[in-house]
Amino acid sequence: MQQLTDPFGRSIEYVRLSVTDRCDLRCFYCMPKGFNDFEAPEHWLSFDEIERVIAAFARLGTRRVRITGGEPLVRKDLPSLAARLYALPGIDDLSLSTNAVQLARHARALKAAGVQRLNVSLDTPDPRRFRDITGGKLEKVIDGLMAAKAAGFSPIKINMVVMKGVNDDDVEAMVEFCITHGFTLRFIETMPMGDTGRGANAHYLPLDIVRKRIEQRHDLVPGVMPGGGPARYMRVVGSDLRIGFITPMSQHFCATCNRVRLSVDGTLYLCLGQDHTFELRPLLRDGITDAALDEAIRQAIALKPERHEFNDKPGQVVRFMSMTGG
Ligand code: SAM
Ligand code: SF4
Repeated sequence: MQQLTDPFGRSIEYVRLSVTDRCDLRCFYCMPKGFNDFEAPEHWLSFDEIERVIAAFARLGTRRVRITGGEPLVRKDLPSLAARLYALPGIDDLSLSTNAVQLARHARALKAAGVQRLNVSLDTPDPRRFRDITGGKLEKVIDGLMAAKAAGFSPIKINMVVMKGVNDDDVEAMVEFCITHGFTLRFIETMPMGDTGRGANAHYLPLDIVRKRIEQRHDLVPGVMPGGGPARYMRVVGSDLRIGFITPMSQHFCATCNRVRLSVDGTLYLCLGQDHTFELRPLLRDGITDAALDEAIRQAIALKPERHEFNDKPGQVVRFMSMTGG
């Protein structure tokens, strides 16, 4: 098996695939209200094109794919794409990040398609606050989560972006919610992305503060969880709850970065926090051969920068998280 290795010796074996830049919510830290500068449909990679790119990555050693967005469930027929990707030789870990608004309708089909693991964004258990943060209805997300549980997804990870003065006082309630329902809870530090990023940065809260608060009520011991990501896990003693801490700001994990991102228009983003990109769509639409596609991906990986610079240059990334796929 060939392997993809970047200039810093990191093995690249994980693709985050954004299937749309659109979303049915407007989380203020991700996409500003009224934003509608979306990619034109003729620029979206078709399912055939996505399958070709992921097959090429699989030939080059990628095992893990996470489908994300924008909100992936707004892309029509997503479960059929998931089934096609899961059928590719070499892909043995298929996961999905979703806001769960439309999950109740799709959970069973996604499970049948081969999606094994789900990450669901949920920043608060309070319906009014949920509306303030996202513009949407909490009950749909809860329905989606329960449908996912009933469909047999395990683990289900809840991603909570913890923001000072916005939802940091929901941390304890989220711990109880996840203990009750058997979900894994992951806290995420806000990253400065686009215009929203400058706002989000105002709410930045280092997660060691959150951890100390939880330790006032619960004993935490080191824990492990399956997944290719950068979360550091602790287990809450006396329960099955695992809590992950994702700290791109206070303790970045660039040295072990194993991933690249493919956006809906066929751009490879080599780093979430830098502007290094490689365009695959023109090559795909010019009839590139499989061998040349593999070579193009190798060239792209050679562009991967060493690290993000969110702390040194917080205004640098002007695109929104919804464009690249979080
Ligand atoms: N719509 C799906 C969802 O919300 O899970 C998938 C895409 S979303 C962009 C992926 C993740 O990025 C979510 O967990 C979201 O909370 C996170 N995210 C978005 N903007 C962020 C920011 N500025 N800082 C930190 N995390 C962010
Ligand atoms: Fe949509 Fe996810 Fe961004 Fe929220 S975080 S606006 S749900 S893409």
